[in-house]
Amino acid sequence: MATILEPGDIEAAASSPPFLHLPPNNLFTLRAQRLERLADEHPLADYLRLVAGLCHVQQQLMDDPPATAPTDLERLRVCQQHGLPPFAADSLVREGVWLPFLEALLQRYPPPARPAVEKALASLRNANVGQLKAWAVALVSGQFTLLPAALVPFLGAALQAAWSHWLLGTPNLHLKPGDSLSQCPACGSPAMAGVIRHRGKYNGLRYLVCSLCACEWHVVRVKCVYCEQSKGLEYLSLDDDRHAADQAPLRAETCPGCHSYLKLLYLENDAEAEALSTDLGSLMLDMRLEQEGYQRPAPNLLLAPGSD
Ligand code: FE
Ligand code: FE
Repeated sequence: MATILEPGDIEAAASSPPFLHLPPNNLFTLRAQRLERLADEHPLADYLRLVAGLCHVQQQLMDDPPATAPTDLERLRVCQQHGLPPFAADSLVREGVWLPFLEALLQRYPPPARPAVEKALASLRNANVGQLKAWAVALVSGQFTLLPAALVPFLGAALQAAWSHWLLGTPNLHLKPGDSLSQCPACGSPAMAGVIRHRGKYNGLRYLVCSLCACEWHVVRVKCVYCEQSKGLEYLSLDDDRHAADQAPLRAETCPGCHSYLKLLYLENDAEAEALSTDLGSLMLDMRLEQEGYQRPAPNLLLAPGSD
């Protein structure tokens, strides 16, 4: 596919685009609704419905958060002054300030009557704080092999709810770009996917979506977010009877330089789409890219790679 400028690039260069796009307060409800819709006639319907159920609990945790230590305003101020992520996942996860979110999730989640789910929830209930922190550290650092795959969606859901709660509960955030294009400026976690926005001042701009806190930050288009090259990028999509290839709402930007890819969601072609649900609903595309030798650096915290 072409590597020429895409619509929006020229306008974006002329006026500096907004660096941040924050998700709406009902982001988890939107994810749940989208997952429920995707589940109809989907080969992974059971899994998508399970995650939809978790998203509903995440929304409850946002709307009625458990009591946690108040946000450390001095730390927020110092981090923003130095251009560091104020909700740095690697340090906050070790401090355990997210644990009340996991506890509340385990209390409020109505689990489906499935032995595997009951077993995973029991493991989380019975684990001590040190073990829970160790699993969470592994998960937010992308070391999926260091925790049981069955725990990932539940632990990931609790962590996401805690971080989105802090992100959206902190007014007037001033964030600076991270060390790499794919790093979240709010929490330092890697991006899960990209979204090409289509409305108002965001029209035609690419925002990467954080895998942990759901913050979105601007990154120019047609540039590999991992090695920052633009040469030879290609855009692959799954065959779909409803869309021509150049109008597919989901395309993977593949880089021949570093053999990585990032999924991109084009809202112009599906205005109701949402990144996390679209990602989980398109694992066929990941399988195909893996077969072609591409690696995926972008985590999805509700799914351990390669698990079933
Ligand atoms: Fe983040
Ligand atoms: Fe690259």
